[in-house]
Amino acid sequence: MLPDFEISREKFSSCGIDLPKNLYDKFNIYADFLVEYNEKVNLTAITDPMEILCKHFIDSACLLKYVDISNNSSLIDVGTGAGFPSVPLKILRPDIRLTLLDSLNKRIDFLKQLCDKLEIDAEFIHGRAEDISKMLEYREKFDYSCARAVANISTLSELCIPFVKVGGSFISMKGPTEDVSRGTNAIEILGGSVANSIDYSLFDEQRRIFVIRKISQTPIKYPRNSAQIKKKSL
Ligand code: SAM
Repeated sequence: MLPDFEISREKFSSCGIDLPKNLYDKFNIYADFLVEYNEKVNLTAITDPMEILCKHFIDSACLLKYVDISNNSSLIDVGTGAGFPSVPLKILRPDIRLTLLDSLNKRIDFLKQLCDKLEIDAEFIHGRAEDISKMLEYREKFDYSCARAVANISTLSELCIPFVKVGGSFISMKGPTEDVSRGTNAIEILGGSVANSIDYSLFDEQRRIFVIRKISQTPIKYPRNSAQIKKKSL
């Protein structure tokens, strides 16, 4: 159970995000199912209700505050885990056409059941980003790709930029220590360009979002296979 409605709404509101009661109810279902499922399958280390509210739901929702996501656009969440950041985004913005990707099937199983409970329409993909983005049906097909806490910016760019159409964006949610300059080489090779780096604080913790614009097609040889990616960043 989340903190009660007034407290939760106040927390969202302090970050500039409105939380109507019907959406609070959905976040509550999400929190309950996350904690229940987490007892048998490892999904998150965060189980305290206030922390789920602030560190998962509001943290994810901040993407909408700092990045303008176009109406009815398609978005793939790479390494989504228990659905962060994109399931909170979809609760707040049902028009987003959502694809959830993770390499662990037990997390995809959780997400299918969760989206069923929340009556959320989404596509689910079990696989590694570096394999899935080679497939024609997913390559350069999305308006946005996003990721939170999956890998460093260079690796993440190789996993996420190939999914994005030219003209779309890859959005990376990071802690304060990640420096986008570490990914500049990879971003350029993969057809991206850094459009924005946004620093903000979330309940006294520092956060950073990078927005990488896709300006040209990703060369067909990228992404490399996982062994090559692991061995050496671009
Ligand atoms: N994004 C979520 C969040 O912020 O809570 C989960 C972060 S968790 C640290 C990283 C997730 O990425 C895991 O669920 C893992 O299975 C997934 N993952 C790691 N490498 C991946 C890859 N190459 N392709 C797809 N998923 C991957």
